[in-house]
Amino acid sequence: MQYQIALLRGDGIGAEIVDAAAAVLERIGTLYGHTFNCTPYLIGGCAIDAVGKPLPEETVAGCLASDSVLLGAVGGPKWDGLAGDQRPESALLGIRAALGLYTNLRPATLFPALRDASPLRTDLVSAGFDILIVRELTGGIYFGNRGYRQGKYGEEAFDTESYSVTEIERIGRAAFEAAMKRSKRLTSVDKANVLETSRLWRKTMHKLAESYPEVEYQDMFVDNAAMQLVRNPQQFDVIVTTNMFGDILSDEASQLTGSIGMLASASLGDGTRGMYEPIHGSAPDIAGQNKANPIAEILSVAMMLRYSFGLEAEARSIENAVDRVLAAGCRTADLLGGQSGSALSCSEMAQKILDAVVRE
Ligand code: NAD
Repeated sequence: MQYQIALLRGDGIGAEIVDAAAAVLERIGTLYGHTFNCTPYLIGGCAIDAVGKPLPEETVAGCLASDSVLLGAVGGPKWDGLAGDQRPESALLGIRAALGLYTNLRPATLFPALRDASPLRTDLVSAGFDILIVRELTGGIYFGNRGYRQGKYGEEAFDTESYSVTEIERIGRAAFEAAMKRSKRLTSVDKANVLETSRLWRKTMHKLAESYPEVEYQDMFVDNAAMQLVRNPQQFDVIVTTNMFGDILSDEASQLTGSIGMLASASLGDGTRGMYEPIHGSAPDIAGQNKANPIAEILSVAMMLRYSFGLEAEARSIENAVDRVLAAGCRTADLLGGQSGSALSCSEMAQKILDAVVRE
């Protein structure tokens, strides 16, 4: 098969990690007989420098004409003084809107070899864990009516949350489909003992669950979910939740895995096209020094193969290669933390993973 991929390197460490991930993609193509045609486009600060805006029309058109998008990261101190809608980061909202991406998939995976990097006690994470948080991305309280008004005690502020059945159904379906591709267990997180939106959320999820009898489904209140994530993260597989609860829980879960340099993400809409990127930023403090951990970007490619192209074996080949390289003791500086040992550079780690990718 032939696939068109838009490569958005962006700023800071973006170029280093995207190029490392693109090399892995090419290796997968060679091993499995696919052709990935990668075309670079400008986004973020480098686009401001080159053409005066963070999201050029050519970039949007190129992404819309592609089967999927691989993004590095945008931003940096050079552009920090610009107004909000001219900053590199504004391009992220623009490209998500242009591509109609409303589902955010954030895996929090603790590879067994990195048990010591987790802030949790090793007996709690002895088998590692592999959680996928499915977060609604374009609705809920972050997008509701808000403002200031005079209340009983003077000035007050308000934010409102609303969710339509349609919005809940589409994120719910994405979560059930994701669960079907994994171990078929889904936890829906809400606050249905208090919030009306959560009661509609729960009712809609229950109705959807009837269409997925193979999925073992459970509801959980968000306060309990926050506690269970640190008490026993291994109990979870897929978690689906609202925009705000997902924002908070995914950051909590990501910290349990050790380094931000390990975490990939996918943003999806109605079709198969998605945008895949690490959850970290452009890391200006280490940019251009060949020190970045390329694993989050490389695992983003695995997500692209799985969620946009349905290439499960190819995705597993990449994840297993990362697993083997970590098990062999290879570490970039961020994974060593304060521990002793010599750190691999970004390009050395990328080469180790490239060498470990095999057809399985
Ligand atoms: P950051 O994620 O870039 O960096 C935080 C810390 O983690 C830094 O010490 C950095 O060196 C380290 N780090 C991040 N990724 C790493 C990797 N792959 N390997 C090793 N270490 C890594 O967050 P920040 O410093 O708050 O933001 C820097 C810039 O990135 C800002 O301009 C911010 O707006 C932008 N940003 C962009 C995105 C995005 O493009 N999606 C996301 C977050 C932040």
